[in-house]
Amino acid sequence: MSVVAKTGPVPPVMPTYNRADLAFERGEGAYLYAADGRRFLDFTSGIAVTGFGHAHPYLVKALTDQAQKIWHSSNLFRIPGQERLAERLVAATFADTVYFGNSGAETIECGIKVVRKFQAANGRPERYRIVTFEGAFHGRTLAALAAGGQQKYLDGFGPKVDGFDQVPFGDLAAVEAAIGPATAGILIEPVQGEGGVHTAPPQFLRALRELADRHGLLLMFDEIQCGMGRTGKLFAHEWVGITPDVMAVAKALGGGFPVGACLATAKAAAGMTAGTHGSTYGGNPLAMAIGNAVLDLVLAEGFLDRIQKIASHLRQQLAMVVEKHGDIFEDVRGNGLLLGLKCRVPNIEVNAALRARGLLTAGAGDNVARLLPPLIIEQSHVAEAIEKIEAACGDLKQAKRKVG
Ligand SMILES: *Cc1c(COP(=O)(O)O)cnc(C)c1O
Repeated sequence: MSVVAKTGPVPPVMPTYNRADLAFERGEGAYLYAADGRRFLDFTSGIAVTGFGHAHPYLVKALTDQAQKIWHSSNLFRIPGQERLAERLVAATFADTVYFGNSGAETIECGIKVVRKFQAANGRPERYRIVTFEGAFHGRTLAALAAGGQQKYLDGFGPKVDGFDQVPFGDLAAVEAAIGPATAGILIEPVQGEGGVHTAPPQFLRALRELADRHGLLLMFDEIQCGMGRTGKLFAHEWVGITPDVMAVAKALGGGFPVGACLATAKAAAGMTAGTHGSTYGGNPLAMAIGNAVLDLVLAEGFLDRIQKIASHLRQQLAMVVEKHGDIFEDVRGNGLLLGLKCRVPNIEVNAALRARGLLTAGAGDNVARLLPPLIIEQSHVAEAIEKIEAACGDLKQAKRKVG
């Protein structure tokens, strides 16, 4: 029997990503190690996922302990870990009830369904449209893409899912103008991550709350990236002093294990009765064991305060770098440990230069290099990152001189 290798133009892994030619063998805390022994300071955290760094002993133990007992039973049965995590999320937030999924996009889908069903359950089935914002990112399923509204992601995938009206981020008059008899809700990231690290002005979020109340709409927050401690509060909207009706959470909730949660008030979730939504894996015992362990760590006494302190230190240091290297960077923006360096040279080049110096960062829209360090970083990590950024700036300038 001969095995003929396929020699088509497509690699076995569907090439939907622009990957760096780098793979890791293991991780520990804030560091990742490549197979050849190179060590990287990980300021991507798997895109705001590994909030407690890599191989955190407490999370490893939670996973392995649970793995000995039961991984999966399906939602045909009660799942005690789900009940516990839901109770704890309810206790810690505005929410009364929680649906568990496996990813951010799935959680967004659930939230969209909650918003629409709320209106239908209240005798207003004609209200199904949701106001969303330019620069948003809500995931890659068809409805999440329509909500995000980015043309480059929608191209070629057929008719855009109907029901989303996009307006400029921060433009209250445009939101008011977009609200009509078919509007069911408003969906916004309190801090846009993928879109370029843009923070919604607090007075804007407060005004959205008022608008939603005045028009009988639900306000939904996407805190998939900015939640779970990233900004130094459990959720970013806590800085603003208002609460949503529905909220999507994922990423750091699982610390690297796929999990998502859609939180809602009792009023908002009134229509979500048995049979209205579901998932095979959603909230399985393995995911819930880790979610509960992550919550233990985030809610530990003083942990969020620590994030605020280290974040303001990092931001100060970055502001100094921006001042010193004004030909490379324009400004530093963001909240807590969700930070962006707006670049004057292509951010892809900046990220590559940083990587060559052993610091991993992510891109974002608006030509931003995004810094998402694990929430556990210390002063020494900040010092190391700043040193690497300065060195990379030197490399970039030297490369420019050579070309010029
Ligand atoms: C990552 C992200 C999503 C999508 O999450 P997936 O797990 O990739 O589906 C949605 N919204 C925001 C704000 C995100 O950062």
